[in-house]
Amino acid sequence: MKEKAIVLDTSAFIAGYDPLAIPEKQFTVPEVRNELNTDSMPGVRFNAAVDNGKVVIIKPKDSFFQQVLEASKKVGDMRYLSEADMQVLALALELKDGGLKAVIVTDDYSIQNVANKIAVEFTSLMTFGIKQRFNWILYCPACYRKYPPDYEYESCEVCGTELKRKPKKKRRLSKV
Ligand SMILES: [Zn+2]
Repeated sequence: MKEKAIVLDTSAFIAGYDPLAIPEKQFTVPEVRNELNTDSMPGVRFNAAVDNGKVVIIKPKDSFFQQVLEASKKVGDMRYLSEADMQVLALALELKDGGLKAVIVTDDYSIQNVANKIAVEFTSLMTFGIKQRFNWILYCPACYRKYPPDYEYESCEVCGTELKRKPKKKRRLSKV
């Protein structure tokens, strides 16, 4: 059986994912660190996990990033994906290519859509006991980052813009 490699995006940390509680190897990308405010709880948790060696930060190779870019264009989710999101996808692809069983932990539908396209596995935060059952989402109108509805702050963790609410979209079926 292939060794499992968990790949974490920004939304996982924002939703309260704690890498120290997970036994498997975990990875993320430099851009995720840049997206988290170091003074916030998610930022503190992130840095603790990196210092502990529980989370390894890797910048994916450009060839994998290009594959993700192409796939994002094809599924039409490109405008919803940040640089960090695409790096996360590229890193998962690179780890998979290196012989690991890469799994992205994310509740972001756009990341899930592209992961599907490039045949990379993903799992929702529910798997880790983080409940996110809700019918609407909180999001940033400037950078499109999504937040859980009970998120305690009013502004975007990434860019500081005031968050907005909208009804949650049903998962698109691949008709396009
Ligand atoms: Zn934002």
